[in-house]
Amino acid sequence: MILPRSEGGLAVRPRARNLIPIAEKVEGGERISREDAIALFESDDLLAVGAMADLVNRRLNGDRVYYVANQHINPTNVCILNKVCVFCSYGVRPVADDAYTMSLDEVYEEAEAARRAPTREFHIVGGLHPKLPLSYYTDMIRGLKERHPTVHVKALTAVEIAHLARVEGIDSRQVLQELLDAGLDAMPGGGAEVFSPAVRSTIADRKLAADEWLRVHREAHELGIPTNCTLLYGHVESAADRVDHMILLRDLQDETGGFSTFIPLAWHPDNTALGRELGLEGQRTGGVDDLKALAVGRILLDNVPHIKTHWIMVTRKVSQIALSFGVDDLEGTVVLEKITHTAGADTPIGLDLQEIIDLIRDAGKTPVERDSLYNSVAEPAVA
Ligand code: SF4
Repeated sequence: MILPRSEGGLAVRPRARNLIPIAEKVEGGERISREDAIALFESDDLLAVGAMADLVNRRLNGDRVYYVANQHINPTNVCILNKVCVFCSYGVRPVADDAYTMSLDEVYEEAEAARRAPTREFHIVGGLHPKLPLSYYTDMIRGLKERHPTVHVKALTAVEIAHLARVEGIDSRQVLQELLDAGLDAMPGGGAEVFSPAVRSTIADRKLAADEWLRVHREAHELGIPTNCTLLYGHVESAADRVDHMILLRDLQDETGGFSTFIPLAWHPDNTALGRELGLEGQRTGGVDDLKALAVGRILLDNVPHIKTHWIMVTRKVSQIALSFGVDDLEGTVVLEKITHTAGADTPIGLDLQEIIDLIRDAGKTPVERDSLYNSVAEPAVA
């Protein structure tokens, strides 16, 4: 039986009959199954799906919505997988006209923006450069920590970690340990894409396989490095592929508890080989699909504390609505976004703190500024 809202039940009762047993599970705090999650994705009862996600989120996070004053830094777009990841517009060949690799001084210079803004986190990811050694990254982290001792460094995806292990001829655990020794605070969740072997062979054949991506994150968790996890949606994957992907993340989280946040990433097809092949350039994921990816993520990943909307990909408006669909993290200021904008994003390349705070307050939520580890660092002082 669906409980009334006054007794902790859903704000919206399902009108689709097949959702009623799922809603009862969610109300009862019971874990949903693979089939339940597929049914949620395939349902057109969006408000009921959102209400279930909202209930799960309120139990975990109340009306708090986190945001971070962060700065993205992308040290190189040179990537040995530029022909492999057909969904990506960012990675290029070393000899490409627009190829770039920043010197450490250039990285430090870009990071100086942190002195003009109250930055709490550097988010550092890039291409798989064939020649850059591990010391480039450990020196970078040490240099950033010396110059900005209060700023957390969240850096390098599992794919980059595995690449550095191959470059150095060591194992990925050693790479993680050296990064940790240099001052790494957390790892982002990119590179997961979709774990389904069939989808992976279509969009990123020969890229780090699912079990290897999961292994690198398991190793990071064992070393005490918190990480994020992601799903790239909106290309050739099915609802079942999305759900199977999330269940592998849920299984690892049961084992390690090391994931902080799940972030569904909406694919942008512009300037990509896959976008051209599918004739999708200029198109974007729909708002309903964006909200479902977030809401089903919130319901299915009942053991991951936070769900983040990436406003750069789904727009500020959808992100604000998502705060009532199970989302408790609105990303951050970003400052200078490059990767999604090479694929046609028409969102800003950064937001200021006041704008983020206003988006959250206007949604009836309480903004909480956080660091990379989800410690509350400040109540917003701005009005
Ligand atoms: Fe390189 Fe990452 Fe783009 Fe793949 S998705 S081509 S690994 S930058």
